[in-house]
This record gives sequence, structure tokens and C-alpha cells, in this order.
Amino acid sequence: MGYERVHEMLKEMHLDGIEKVLDSAAQKWSEKGSDVFELIEELLNSQIKSDEEKKYTIRLRYSGLPFHKKIAEFDFSFQPSIDVKQIRELETLRFMYEKENVIFLGPPGVGKTHLAIGLAMKAIEEGKKAYFINSVKLVERMKEAFAKMSYERLLRFYKSLDLLIIDELGYLPLDIEGAKLFFELVESRYERGSIIVTSNRSFTEWDKIFSDSVLATAVLDRLLHHSSIVNIRGKSYRLKEKQKNGLVGAKIMNGLK
Ligand code: ADP
Ligand code: MG
Repeated sequence: MGYERVHEMLKEMHLDGIEKVLDSAAQKWSEKGSDVFELIEELLNSQIKSDEEKKYTIRLRYSGLPFHKKIAEFDFSFQPSIDVKQIRELETLRFMYEKENVIFLGPPGVGKTHLAIGLAMKAIEEGKKAYFINSVKLVERMKEAFAKMSYERLLRFYKSLDLLIIDELGYLPLDIEGAKLFFELVESRYERGSIIVTSNRSFTEWDKIFSDSVLATAVLDRLLHHSSIVNIRGKSYRLKEKQKNGLVGAKIMNGLK
């Protein structure tokens, strides 16, 4: 029978976007007796939408984001040191298209990772490839790849991304080999692709992160040449939530201000 065969064929061809709306669209069309091209257009539009949703889901899965939060979910009133205008500008993703970097600095819990993820989600919505990785893991992977002779391939992967988010730089210092590999990565994306870095260390302390002041200067030079810096000075949102639940005393909270 024609009806069943059509559904089978659509399934075989993975045209689920068409299959999903076929019955209702065909019924509506036969009742209205309108132009057949309207029907075809509706079916194709449904397929295009479904393909885009699938690609979005895949890009999101491969991005390695540890949580999915948008900038719309960020409470700016809790963090008055943030210039909202600057974040709105970053949200246009002009920095990514111009291959510039963004550095979020500040103590733990102030929303550095949340804002970085928010920008990554925006890029993924725009069809771009974003990839999130913790800085220690990044360097470990590079060291491993170096030992296994797959370093070039890994570097090519990092270079292929539209947006690379390196989280928590400075929580643990890098040894000299790690620092060199980190520099090579930054150098390979310099003026070629955006990097977002989050760090709890101010730039003056970056010597300590890289165990070497020459390397630290070289990394900073490349990262900061075309960059926006968001320096967040404020209270931890995590502690605020705990305090609300009575887990952290007001004394600690005040001490952390
Ligand atoms: P950081 O990376 O600076 O240590 P995170 O971005 O991981 O902090 O924030 C810690 C948690 O608090 C996350 O779940 C984040 O979504 C939330 N958070 C932080 N700041 C805000 C804020 N101003 N509004 C809403 N949620 C926030
Ligand atoms: Mg973080």
C-alpha cells in the first residue's frame, strides 16, 4: 500500500523530519486543496529543522561542556563587578569571528566557567565547533600524544576548533614540559582561532603557573594581544547557595567577600 511504503521509505532514508509531519501536512493540504509546492515546502522545512537539531545535539555532545547553562541564566545582580555591556558584546561572538581571546579571571565560584560555557553554547547554536577542556587535562593529553607520536594529530584537532575553552588554568602549576606544550598550543591558535581561558590567578602570578617567567611572558603575549579580559571580583555563588541552605556560617561568607 502506498501510504505504508512511503513511511517505510522515509524511515529507510532517515528522513524523519518529513515522516513526523507527513500525515498532518498531507491531510491539511488535501482539505485545503492548496498548491502542492506548499506541501513540499512544509515537508522539506521540517526535514531541514530536524537535521539542524540533530547536528546541534552532536556538536553539543562533542564539545565536552561539563554543564549546559546559558548566559540568560546568569544573575548579573549578584556579581556587580561584571560590566554587563562587555558580556553583551562577547555574546555577539564577534571575538570568535575575529579570532580573539577571552580571559575570565577571579576567585572560585564567581561564574567564570558558567560564562565561558554560555559563550560556547552560543557558538554551538550558531553552528560552530566549540571544545571545553580543563587545563591540566589538556596538558596531560598533549604529553600523552607527544609520547605516542600522535601529537601533530592532536594539535590539528585543537586547531580545527572555532572556539577552545581552557578551564581552571593555574589551579595546579604546570611543569616545564607541560608549560612548553601549552605555549605551543597557544602559539598554534594565535590569530587563527579563539581561546577562552578561565583562571583564579592574576596575570602577575602566571610565572608560577608556568614554572618559568620567559614562557609565562610568551603565553601572555600571544593570549592578550587580541583579547577581552573579564576580571570578576566578588562572592562565590556556590557559597551563597550553601549559605541559603544553612551549610556555611555567615562568618565564612563575610571572610570571603
Ligand atoms: P567558577 O568557574 O568561577 O569557579 P562557576 O561558573 O563554576 O564558578 O559557578 C559555580 C556555580 O554557580 C555554577 O553552577 C554556576 O552556574 C553558578 N553561578 C555562579 N555565578 C552565578 C550567577 N551570578 N548567577 C547564576 N548562577 C551562578
Ligand atoms: Mg570554574
